[in-house]
Amino acid sequence: MASSRTPLIAGNWKMNGLSADGTALASELASRMKSAKNGGFEMLVCPPFTLISKVGAAIEGSGLQLGGQDCHSQVKGAHTGDTSAAMLADLGCHYVIVGHSERRTDHGERNEQVRAKAAAGHAAGLNVIICIGETEAERDAGKALEVNKSQVAGSLPDGATAANTVIAYEPVWAIGTGRTPTTDEVQEVHAFIRSELAARVGAEADGMRILYGGSMKPGNAAELIALPDVDGGLIGGASLQADDFWAIAQTCL
Ligand code: PEP
Repeated sequence: MASSRTPLIAGNWKMNGLSADGTALASELASRMKSAKNGGFEMLVCPPFTLISKVGAAIEGSGLQLGGQDCHSQVKGAHTGDTSAAMLADLGCHYVIVGHSERRTDHGERNEQVRAKAAAGHAAGLNVIICIGETEAERDAGKALEVNKSQVAGSLPDGATAANTVIAYEPVWAIGTGRTPTTDEVQEVHAFIRSELAARVGAEADGMRILYGGSMKPGNAAELIALPDVDGGLIGGASLQADDFWAIAQTCL
């Protein structure tokens, strides 16, 4: 974590939460944010679409940020069941996650589509978190860097800046498995991603945050977030428990 970049601790709730438990979790985090007043990190929750309004109301004025988990690449139209970036912004979101590996796997999303979604997020005034990461087979085949290179090249839209774009490196084999790469492996990929970003966006790459995601927990967050090119975390399972999510954020201080 470089002091020039404010760490971002982002929670991806995925398809979890109903009104009662979702708003209780959001309220608990909001009250901790309000009383902490530390400013040493930025914290974001990305609830399922159904809870965005209620969570937004529960965290209002706390400094906790709100985001969506996906958006459509089009502004509006005949896309049953989809949500536009402008609709997320309209609900008070400041962020949207695009290209999560579960979207890439479950919905067949490819880099071009992810790039179009990221561009749509920017056009709606949202900060975009673009997820990339290799599968276990790709890592075993020695292709981790190559895969991340092509995902950066293919998923990053024109106009990406340090202010409107965050990259999340999430090795697919580490998501929800309890397994993580070694800290050396994480730093190697993050430094490589930053060099690929520099080739695309020049000096903006120095300020662009690169999150690590994949089984981040209170027990491993400190050593991961301390790495020079890790600027926070995208957290799934542990973001559903206020104590765990908060403990991860405290490692940024
Ligand atoms: C994720 O889905 O983005 C993620 C990192 O999940 P987990 O923390 O549960 O591995």
